[in-house]
Amino acid sequence: MNVLSNRVSSMVESATLLMARMARELRGKGVDVINLSLGEPDFDTPQHIKDAAVKALADGQTKYTPVSGLLELREAISRKFLRDNGLHYAPDQIVVSTGAKQSIANACLALLDKDDEVLLPSPYWVSYAAIAHLCEAKWIEILAPVEQHYKITPEQLEAHITPKTKLVIFSSPCNPTGSVLSHDELAGLVAVLEKYPRIHVISDEIYEYINYAGKHVSIASFKSMYDRTITVNGFSKGFAMTGWRLGYIGTTKEIAQACDKIQGQFTSGTCSFNQIAAIAALDGDMGPTMAMREAYQRRKTLVMNHIADIADWKCNDPEGAFYAFPNVSRCFGKTDGKSIIKNGNDLALYLLENAHVASVGGDSFGDENCLRFSYAASEDNINKAFARIKEAMAKLK
Ligand code: PMP
Ligand code: GLU
Repeated sequence: MNVLSNRVSSMVESATLLMARMARELRGKGVDVINLSLGEPDFDTPQHIKDAAVKALADGQTKYTPVSGLLELREAISRKFLRDNGLHYAPDQIVVSTGAKQSIANACLALLDKDDEVLLPSPYWVSYAAIAHLCEAKWIEILAPVEQHYKITPEQLEAHITPKTKLVIFSSPCNPTGSVLSHDELAGLVAVLEKYPRIHVISDEIYEYINYAGKHVSIASFKSMYDRTITVNGFSKGFAMTGWRLGYIGTTKEIAQACDKIQGQFTSGTCSFNQIAAIAALDGDMGPTMAMREAYQRRKTLVMNHIADIADWKCNDPEGAFYAFPNVSRCFGKTDGKSIIKNGNDLALYLLENAHVASVGGDSFGDENCLRFSYAASEDNINKAFARIKEAMAKLK
């Protein structure tokens, strides 16, 4: 007899968290592993945000909050949406959750029925597919190769739409490719979506503040998309607050209420004193966020220079986030005499064992020809990691 449900048995473990765990285990055995697998800022949360949380605790902010989040926080988020994105979301259109991951899960549960189709411009972030799967929906990948800078065309989008298509989920800046959709590129996709009013969009903008390309554009700022977009954002990346577990959405009142209802049965809302700190983050000094972005940009240049030295790898120039996603398919079929590299996962394991560098194979992001490196790591570690990677790559013939 199966103890576990089919739903969970058939679900895959998060590849990003799996690689991070393997790296930790190796490190526990005394191996000097450089972990470029997990997309987690190596910076600490800015002091003024921590101070606000400590003060909130001291002030006794230790009780349940409204399920969707403290009104003061939703007001601050409402101001943020207007200031940064030109979006009008009233506090009752905003739901704060335990990380953007839960925000996305809430929205999917609110919108998807069994057998609905979810379009994932690919490469995509690992959890979109797993969450769609848990909702018993079917996810359809639309592959944009490195030659297209990993960006789908409007024609590709339209070719994958069927009467069952309910949702499109994408991130810009993108995890894992770093691609950023410009206003014109979004306009091309919007022109297609305008023909299909049933289709909703989850726009994952969690890397908004880590953008080297210029101004961030939200798809909900296109008039025709406002009523059918769930704009997702959070604090993990821009404010280096992964452990705080804080994310949020702006959307229609109807969808926000549905997410509130789901969350009311699942978590009762997120941590009270974190929410006070989140207000300090949104209303406070953006200097630390900008400084982190500049550091990521310097590291990106470093990583791209290293990747350019590896003849078998081909990469786009990431415009945001903190990942490099090279296509490594030219080394498939090569061997060090022991293992043959057949796909990105094989190469990730080869590099973990031989270079002691943790990365993530591309297949869980929808492209097995690739490998993802997070450069949310110090310049020293990046240099050390790529020196080892180049040595290990040179052994493959
Ligand atoms: N979306 C993307 C694209 C991400 O990379 C992540 C990773 N943290 C999340 C959502 C979830 O973030 P959070 O920590 O807020 O759950
Ligand atoms: N989003 C990060 C990543 O892609 C953190 C891990 C996760 O949330 O899955 O590596």
